[in-house]
Amino acid sequence: MQLYAFDVNNRLVFSSQAHKQKNYTCPECKGIVRLRGGLQRQNHFFHQEAVRACRQSGKSVQHLSVQNFFLDRLPAGECALEHSFPEIGRIGDVVWIPKRIVFEIQCSFITAAEVQARNNDYASLGFRVIWILHDARYNKPHLSSMELYLSNQLHYYTNMQQNGEGIIYDQFSIIQHSRCLHLFAPLPIDVCLLQQQKFSKDQFELDVIRKRQLTWDGFFSGDLTDLAVKESLEKCAYLQKARDLENRYLTHKDSGLRNFIKDSLYAYLLRPYYLIFQLFLERCSK
Ligand SMILES: [Zn+2]
Repeated sequence: MQLYAFDVNNRLVFSSQAHKQKNYTCPECKGIVRLRGGLQRQNHFFHQEAVRACRQSGKSVQHLSVQNFFLDRLPAGECALEHSFPEIGRIGDVVWIPKRIVFEIQCSFITAAEVQARNNDYASLGFRVIWILHDARYNKPHLSSMELYLSNQLHYYTNMQQNGEGIIYDQFSIIQHSRCLHLFAPLPIDVCLLQQQKFSKDQFELDVIRKRQLTWDGFFSGDLTDLAVKESLEKCAYLQKARDLENRYLTHKDSGLRNFIKDSLYAYLLRPYYLIFQLFLERCSK
């Protein structure tokens, strides 16, 4: 369902403020869209040329609710929805312009290769992508190759409902061979508060946070790293339980150089082959 379009003055208009009988322009394909809807169905835009292939009309209401969530919370005037990047032929779901961040909201299937391609395209313009995965499709007992690929970069989940209720969240989990063995309660993040401080990875007891120090570029207020920065392990039941589970599952929990070599070997040598294999399996099962 498409809820945004440009008016004749090239202003982005939400469907509830649009008028029937007027022409609007689709932000993605630039085709003509018009408003429809009524008592039975929420007002939305539709393409006049039905054959036109465009991602906009396929966006779910949850997807649009997440976009609105960001629009409501990011500082006024700094956030753009459906922001066009003509140089790379892409449209960012939510762009936090001063921070040069693109939030890509994903509610449907996508391959790790496509995620990587989008990341590379935006990186070529100096923008970073933070993926927000909807838990109606992701965060399931078996992780997709895309989620495994994203484990080495800043990303979060959301449980946003059609009515706009929900959160963007981080969590502690134990993953082994793409299976999620333990999943903790969601930690709601504050999407306005990006933290860029660097810490020594040895400062943290949790293995997952030490890994994030090597691979995640920053973190948001409220997430697992933020919790570990603000709370002492002795006083925080969430962190204690996480540490106990890591001790149980990560059998070769050692420190220093050996751990670093092991992480690096995995990140740079083995992981790409593993991801290609996962992608191959997903393609075969489609
Ligand atoms: Zn379109």
